[in-house]
Amino acid sequence: MSRKFVIVAVGLLVLLALPFLAWNGLVEAADASSYDMLLRLSPRRQGAAQKQVVLLAVDDNTVNRYGPLPLNRAVLASALDSVASAKPSVLVVDVLISEHTQEKADASLADALGRFPKVVLASALEPGSDATASRWITPLPDFQSRAYAIGHVHIEPDRDGVARSLLLTKANQRSRYWALGFEAFRAAIGAEGSPIEYSNRVVVAKRSVPASQSSGRLLWINYGGPEGTFQRVSVASVLEGRVPLSAFTGKVVILGVTAQGAGDRIFTPFSAGVGMSGIEIHANIFATLLDGAYLSPLGPVSELILLLAIVAAVTAAAWWRKGRSLAAVAIVGIVVIPVFSYWALRAGLIIPVASCLVTHVSASLVCFLGQTRFIRRQLGEAVQGRKEYAFRLQAVAHEIKTPLTAIHASSQLITDSDVPERKKEEIAQRIFKESGRLSGIVTTFLDVERISAGALQLQRQQVELAAVVSEASERAQLLALKKEITIRKVLETVTVPGDSELLEYAIYNLIANAVKYSPNGSSITVSVRSDPRFASVAVADQGCGIEVAEQSRIFERFYRANKHREERESGTGVGLALVKEIVTQHGGRIEVDSQPGKGSRFSLFLPRECER
Ligand code: ADP
Repeated sequence: MSRKFVIVAVGLLVLLALPFLAWNGLVEAADASSYDMLLRLSPRRQGAAQKQVVLLAVDDNTVNRYGPLPLNRAVLASALDSVASAKPSVLVVDVLISEHTQEKADASLADALGRFPKVVLASALEPGSDATASRWITPLPDFQSRAYAIGHVHIEPDRDGVARSLLLTKANQRSRYWALGFEAFRAAIGAEGSPIEYSNRVVVAKRSVPASQSSGRLLWINYGGPEGTFQRVSVASVLEGRVPLSAFTGKVVILGVTAQGAGDRIFTPFSAGVGMSGIEIHANIFATLLDGAYLSPLGPVSELILLLAIVAAVTAAAWWRKGRSLAAVAIVGIVVIPVFSYWALRAGLIIPVASCLVTHVSASLVCFLGQTRFIRRQLGEAVQGRKEYAFRLQAVAHEIKTPLTAIHASSQLITDSDVPERKKEEIAQRIFKESGRLSGIVTTFLDVERISAGALQLQRQQVELAAVVSEASERAQLLALKKEITIRKVLETVTVPGDSELLEYAIYNLIANAVKYSPNGSSITVSVRSDPRFASVAVADQGCGIEVAEQSRIFERFYRANKHREERESGTGVGLALVKEIVTQHGGRIEVDSQPGKGSRFSLFLPRECER
């Protein structure tokens, strides 16, 4: 299994795991928390909205002095009268005023509302049961008649209880209302007529609000900070004249209950233990719209592309420079992803930080494991390779030792005066033959080492292959004759640039092997063929053949097929290594096609043009 394969497999594995990693509840929750954190870390926005909003709070103090809740409408009306005298631009009432109370009190509130240029009142959708349909709780007609608009007050928290977004419109079978904050925004910018709705946005007085129809007109609330970000005045302090009324002049006043126990508190990304009051949330919605500080999450396709890009980057790091940069990329990624997400959020784009981190860490981990496995296997292979090399070297030593022993023993005998002259001559001939064999083995061994080291310079010339083949087979004829083997030749005329001596040596080696590993009486075919780019020399025999598993190994130095090693067939296992080296130096290649028991065919492919 190659390293490439391991990394591709790793990449695929992470790819398959992506949907699970990115969209399971746990990662989703982590994405939400990291979003909250980045939002808290972002610098506070100093938009126009913050200067324009004043929260008018029915707080604990007001309830203590003028309570209980719901606050008497006459009291509320008296406070609003004072506020109206300061001429604010819009009054937003985040209190449901749908039931009748005392007639006089209701009338005074209606009068007070009438004193504001624009009033936005609250409505809520009461969920239906099996028998009844859902129902809108709307302000009393007397109040409605004084309203510029009526907006819904629903803010639906996410699964973890934190309110990060809201649906700009909410509807039952009969009617539909825009959100209270949205209506306040419309009133503040002086929008006339209904909003114009497009599939991906809503346009109000030429201002475009990105809230797509497919999301149900979902708007992410870009909270400007924790509770207390907007200026707040208590109803009690207005009633008691403890605030200069000029604080309300030209402002958007949002009236609502903040007193403990009113239940109107919801967790937001800024909440720590205590929820945020409804009016503060509505102020944040209003501010998001007025400041145009929109936030939008990545769509599913973009998210998938981003996660795939992370996997690709990590996989590339595992591949590049043999994985030396993987650790660095893994660490850098862990830092870069949150920093990038922070900047993206400041530009209004919500990146799923946790999904990215989880993907990045898992991809790095899987690649790292793949790498470790790969390195361990390579180490194992290297150790194994050394063992085999030592073993094969031993075989060569053995091969050298046989003639050496014969020479040693013979040279002792020759000095013995008792040995007859005729015998001495025989011994001398044996010494000559064995030393020749020894020298042959050592020369071959040295040749292969020199050629592999590139020390042997090729004497390039145009070589007529047919002639070289004939020469080599002529030399091998002596061996063949001993085994009654016939050598047939099928020769095309072709020349290749090369070293004729070395090429002859290589071809002779192939023919000699064919003779050596073939039975008596068989035949060998040597052929030369040519195509436009390559000339080929093939040596085919009817010998014992080579096991498939060994076919790629016989070209390694000192490698000998198990069968021949065990049968103690003479040989060093360097011949083919040498042939391969010669062919490679000529810019060609060697191939073997063999069937055990049937025969082998060794083919040399030599380029017809000199490769530069
Ligand atoms: P040697 O023949 O000295 O062992 P080589 O490098 O020439 O070394 O060959 C390596 C091995 O390849 C041989 O030991 C033999 O097992 C196998 N081999 C080579 N040529 C043939 C062939 N024509 N038929 C069968 N086996 C062969």
